[in-house]
Amino acid sequence: MSNLKTQILIQALARRLTRARVLKSEDAWEKLYRELQDAMTRAWDDNMRNAAAAALDHLRELDQSHFTEEDAQLIHETLENRVGVVAMIAALYGPLLNLTEAFYRTGIQEVVATRGVDVSFRHLDQNAINITQRANLYWVGNSWNTYTDKLLRQSLTDYFKQGYSRQQLIERLANDFAGLTERGHHYWNLLADHIATRTREIGRIDAYTSAQIKYIQIRAHLDARTSDVCRKMHGKIIPVERLVAQRDAYLKAASERDMETAKQVWHMWKESDDLSQLDVPGEKLPTNTVMPPYHFRCRTISVVYFR
Ligand SMILES: [Zn+2]
Repeated sequence: MSNLKTQILIQALARRLTRARVLKSEDAWEKLYRELQDAMTRAWDDNMRNAAAAALDHLRELDQSHFTEEDAQLIHETLENRVGVVAMIAALYGPLLNLTEAFYRTGIQEVVATRGVDVSFRHLDQNAINITQRANLYWVGNSWNTYTDKLLRQSLTDYFKQGYSRQQLIERLANDFAGLTERGHHYWNLLADHIATRTREIGRIDAYTSAQIKYIQIRAHLDARTSDVCRKMHGKIIPVERLVAQRDAYLKAASERDMETAKQVWHMWKESDDLSQLDVPGEKLPTNTVMPPYHFRCRTISVVYFR
């Protein structure tokens, strides 16, 4: 075989192997992602079941008169004990720490699998992993304030306003809890997605800096579901130092438990936001919109760019 033919063959093989490696790592990510989703929804289901049992026990102990505002408050406290900040963090502590590190490493592996990337890891940025783990735990605990509390309080207020007797409420509540538990799945799946994509991206940045990559390119998943934000971001070339700056701002805010700032420095775009701010080259993007994900349920990633 001629030298040129051999070279072409080797290059084609290398491309195929690279593709196989990337696919394999996508599978790994998918598997981890399902694991996190399962862990979250299982913790939620178990805790809600216990919460329902505790709330119903409480109601049964009372007499048959009408459900009062004080009863509602007491049941609310019972629920907080079972599905509140402390309970959900306790239920997800182990899985979330392990999976955060696994997502982080997946991000690194995806970069390392890129052809032309030469990286020998001397050490992982353990500090970045630790802060990301704590931030992810915080988002889990935060569910009580942003989602669960409102959901349960609303139901209890409705019961109170409708003048249910406690007996009626026992029947009603047993039924409603199933619906409430199911509605929660949407929230936890969303959060699992958010945690997974963010953590993987933070891992990627670790690999970019270790491999001394200077630029990345934004790669959106283009189909009918692609968001307007990601259509604008697709193809942009961004200096890695800008990603590092955003990551550091996020980790700093997270390590200081300043979650308002953490949200500001890594903006999740909404349909109603002014997208014209993104009509600029990668170097000029707003500091809070450099690394993906750019919104909830975002499928966009960054990839190595050689120039
Ligand atoms: Zn997106």
